[in-house]
Amino acid sequence: MKEKRIIYLDNAATTPVKPEVLDAMIPFFTDSFGNPSSLYSIGQNSKDAIKNARGQVAALIGANAAEIFFTGSGTESDNWAFIGAAMWKRPKGQHVITSAIEHHALMHSAEYLEKEGFDVTYLPVDSEGFVSPDDLKNALREDTTVVSVMYANNEIGTLQPIEELCGITHERGALFHTDAVQALGNVPLDVKKLGVDMMSLSSHKIYGPKGVGALYVRKGISLPTYMHGGAQESGKRAGTENLTGIIGFGKAAELAGENLDSHIEKLRGLRDYFIEKVMTEISDVRVNGSLDKRLPGNVNFTFKYIEGEAILLLLDMAGIAVSTGSACSSASLTPSHVLSAIGVPSEDIHGSIRFTMGDFTTKEDLDYAAEELKAAVEKLRSISSLSN
Ligand code: PLP
Repeated sequence: MKEKRIIYLDNAATTPVKPEVLDAMIPFFTDSFGNPSSLYSIGQNSKDAIKNARGQVAALIGANAAEIFFTGSGTESDNWAFIGAAMWKRPKGQHVITSAIEHHALMHSAEYLEKEGFDVTYLPVDSEGFVSPDDLKNALREDTTVVSVMYANNEIGTLQPIEELCGITHERGALFHTDAVQALGNVPLDVKKLGVDMMSLSSHKIYGPKGVGALYVRKGISLPTYMHGGAQESGKRAGTENLTGIIGFGKAAELAGENLDSHIEKLRGLRDYFIEKVMTEISDVRVNGSLDKRLPGNVNFTFKYIEGEAILLLLDMAGIAVSTGSACSSASLTPSHVLSAIGVPSEDIHGSIRFTMGDFTTKEDLDYAAEELKAAVEKLRSISSLSN
């Protein structure tokens, strides 16, 4: 039986591993499997491969290799950065700042800090999802120690003015972290120019394997040890390394760097083509987020009068994979905190769908998706009591 081709439009949730990435990983499962901490040759070979991968990830964000610490996920990087830095600086103050639209990895870390007695300010965003630099200026206090604002939002794709927010934070002597999990490989990133102290990254959003991430920590910042044990990751994050995962992440980062300009141009073209098509062919639809400062492959629509979950299921039956929010929250029915924060009315939040394009998306995929989407919306509206 011929397998049905999936039109995959959920690249913000995860991406397929590229063949070149898999090829780079394979020998390290079987032949070159040595423990990087072992002193004999196959151990040292693994150690060298990790060193190489560290350089590859560092190069993609303009960092030095020694500033990259491999972790188990973007989520872990967020936890380590935000909770770790807040606890470390606690003697100086117990106030931290973040935004109202962070990923749950950061949001729940902030809530944890609140339970631990910290005072957390959640900066509001405007109708396109932007944090205002003035709001940050007003929120910073004598006892503020850490500020964390995401580079690119995973639901609506809005890109924040990170360099400016970081500058304001530093003027007041606090540390600045950014979650760049969605931005990596989709936006040129230069940590030196941005000035950030910490940046979270994840492999599986850039065609690398799942279960591996990294935290950039600027030289001179001695973030306390996150995992206690052996000497791995300069003694900061103990545990035998995810050798194959790290090698895959490194290769994926190298490819992302080589193809960055063409990747951005292609995704922007696809995104704008799809927006135009959907807006002209379907009525009562709006795009959430900024049309200007937005991730190249992200579109988030609200279709009035219908449920996003129902659209998702009809599209799934047509072989199209999309999301109603971030992958992590799509299984829950709580309305998206991101769409609430930008002021989408609660009845409309449920009618929102995210389409995210990637390197393997074609124009034909989008033509098919638009056609099926139109049919799904019309079908659901014809039976919806809200549209009558
Ligand atoms: N931060 C953002 C903005 C994300 O989009 C995600 C994943 O969707 C994460 C953090 C978590 O990364 P990971 O899946 O590697 O834990």
